[in-house]
Amino acid sequence: MKSYRNASPAESKRKVKQILSVDRIPQLSSEERIRLKEVTDKYAFRTNDYYINLINWDDPRDPIRRLVIPHEDELAAYGNLDASNENSVTVRKGVQHKYRSTVLLLVNEVCSSFCRYCFRKRLFMNGHDEATYDITPGLQYIRHHPEVNNVLLSGGDPLILRTPRLEKIISTLREIEHVRIIRIGSKVPAFNPFRILNDDSLIEMFRKYSLPNRRIYLMCHFDHPRELTPEAREAISRVIDAGVICVNQNPIIRGISDDPNVMTKLWNELSYMGVGQYYVFQGRPTAGNLPYELPIAEAYFRIEEAKKKCSGLGKRIKYVMSHESGKIEVIGVDARHIYMKYHQAKHQKDEQRLLVCRRDDQAYWLDQLRPISGYVNEYYDGVIPENRAFN
Ligand code: SF4
Repeated sequence: MKSYRNASPAESKRKVKQILSVDRIPQLSSEERIRLKEVTDKYAFRTNDYYINLINWDDPRDPIRRLVIPHEDELAAYGNLDASNENSVTVRKGVQHKYRSTVLLLVNEVCSSFCRYCFRKRLFMNGHDEATYDITPGLQYIRHHPEVNNVLLSGGDPLILRTPRLEKIISTLREIEHVRIIRIGSKVPAFNPFRILNDDSLIEMFRKYSLPNRRIYLMCHFDHPRELTPEAREAISRVIDAGVICVNQNPIIRGISDDPNVMTKLWNELSYMGVGQYYVFQGRPTAGNLPYELPIAEAYFRIEEAKKKCSGLGKRIKYVMSHESGKIEVIGVDARHIYMKYHQAKHQKDEQRLLVCRRDDQAYWLDQLRPISGYVNEYYDGVIPENRAFN
């Protein structure tokens, strides 16, 4: 397959070809293809020739390979397809309202490639129909909720949509006075930067709707520094030039993004590009994801190790678990305990709540941990204690 490295400007407009079957990957042996078909019969497979060309086929543990090429262990019994019970916060088809000021719209059910560890892989499976192609009811809902100041477009990947379709969604959101921030969650800059490089109208659309007091944020999803190709860097640079704020968020995944040196390199490189690392997510216990998960304590120490070698900008990252009850930051692990705090809560009673749990190095998720003396939520009752020493 052709490499995109050192491509001439004409070649940089090249169309990326989709690969929808492991049979189309000549680097896999016929035995491997037969074995992996069993996995892809259950969990969808999709990638493209640009991303496949980033794989080092001489390394069977290559992280880029691991990200898109199925693994037989995905068939091991584990988790469920909606690990954070997104269904319980779905208020209209494709519309999730979990945190007071944020609404999430699932605008499609496809990505440039499918990450093997995807926590929303149910969307790519037959018999699941959750995204909405008619966002009118979602927009109606947002219009009637003035507390919503930011809307997250997700899926799937919104940047897969053709620009006129995406513009229709963004321009309609811009008509709603109380929606100040529009976020777009996307791995397109990693999977297919040509989607951005080939389409000047996308950049112009960003420039038109990312305004000084009403910004568009691109929530990028880079997992590994090798995804930061010249094409990906150029794509991000154009998006930033159009006035869009770019940040990065990714899960910590076994064999892909769990090496502290890799994390440090990724965060540093991104910071040089003007992309701050925002969240690192604990992998959700999603069906098919057993080979990709790390226990909480191990993940915490790996992230702390990575942070040591970063500047203050790199150290701003939050290691969080997107639990059914809220977004919970893992703030510390000592010999006996794991300390966590609600960063966002589904229910008011949990807001800012501190959780202290007995340390269990085999625990992957909050539900597997044992809280000590119940959940601690008395430390802050909404009244800020005053220091009167200087009065
Ligand atoms: S880009 Fe996001 S939604 Fe798409 S497969 Fe990867 S994790 Fe899932």
